[in-house]
Amino acid sequence: MKNYKVAVLAGDGIGPEITQEAIKVLKLVEERNDVSFELMPALFGACAYFETGDAFPLETKEICDSADAILKGPIGLSHEESKNIPVDKQPERGALLPMRRRYNTYANFRPVSLPKALAHFSPLKPEIIGDGIDLVIVRELVGGLYFGEKETGVNEKGLRYVRETLEYDEGQIRQILVQAFKLAQTRKKVLHNIHKSNVLKSSVLWNEILEEVATDYQDVKVINILVDAAATLLCLKPTQFDVMVMENMFGDILSDQGGGILGSLGLMPSACIGDEKAYYEPSHGSAPDIAGKNMANPYSMIGSVAMMLENSFDMADEAKNVWAAMQGVFADGYSTADLSKSDSGVKMIGTEEFGDKVVEKLRDMPKV
Ligand code: NAD
Repeated sequence: MKNYKVAVLAGDGIGPEITQEAIKVLKLVEERNDVSFELMPALFGACAYFETGDAFPLETKEICDSADAILKGPIGLSHEESKNIPVDKQPERGALLPMRRRYNTYANFRPVSLPKALAHFSPLKPEIIGDGIDLVIVRELVGGLYFGEKETGVNEKGLRYVRETLEYDEGQIRQILVQAFKLAQTRKKVLHNIHKSNVLKSSVLWNEILEEVATDYQDVKVINILVDAAATLLCLKPTQFDVMVMENMFGDILSDQGGGILGSLGLMPSACIGDEKAYYEPSHGSAPDIAGKNMANPYSMIGSVAMMLENSFDMADEAKNVWAAMQGVFADGYSTADLSKSDSGVKMIGTEEFGDKVVEKLRDMPKV
């Protein structure tokens, strides 16, 4: 039997609620397969700050260091509540970015997927969705503006100022592009390169490196699109995209738009992969507006478990079963509040009930 250690960082807001449902699924996967998961819960985010004074405490670092994979819920507080934590210790700056840096999880895969049968969840018209949306945003995760040097102060005119730097070296660019090309090779062999080279020199270098890397992947067709145009096209014609690669901040923003075209951020899981370590998290935040109400959609968190099974534990077939179990719940006409508009005919259920139904469906599936 294979034994894996999984660090479980439930996080803030809806994090604990959706993590609980993901754990139910993971426990069933354990029952159905010759595998055991040692779950190692740890504090991370605002909850960790309030308990220990540090959003990424040493104990959590040690647990994550020893884990085979990390399952992370969303972290963060509402805009107002965030003011109770010093700026540099707030969850993203104090925990999330340090974790990405610590494990060099440079490749963030964010699937944006909606089968035709679920087109009614989307705000887009059925004719735009066509046979369904199925694309992957590949986001560079440890460079760019989010990781550059920052400075604040008062300038010579007596005005408060801020300076943040956007820095990439060619190694950082090459490694994410290689991942994107490799993924494109396994899919439709088309790669949309999202950039802003008409304004940003970082994009000029990015595109230069892309041309170099492309010579090793000549079976992949590259299509270059400026990020502003890509934002529009993602709404007007999302089906033209298959694999989209972009730098850190572009990916942060466009992937939330990805959730928008599906109908909810609750449909957005993700995998953050480094050469040594990977962690899995929903693309969205802690949704303080619905936290504690049994309203959150756990699809993103359970989908992150499926990505973990496939990428970290070599369990691609069981991962497919998990996806199919979730689609099965939707196909039976159920969903959480985010996707149950009053006139849609969708039967609204809570976070826990959704998790229970996924477990029922998975239990009925043939073992791999
Ligand atoms: P958010 O993603 O938390 O929420 C945006 C909207 O989407 C809200 O209306 C929310 O209710 C809804 N939503 C998100 N996930 C959902 C789900 N699973 N089911 C149903 N509805 C869902 O964005 P925000 O409100 O701007 O940010 C809240 C906090 O999350 C902030 O502190 C932010 O910094 C943090 N954040 C953390 C991460 C992370 O942990 N990786 C990512 C993004 C934002």
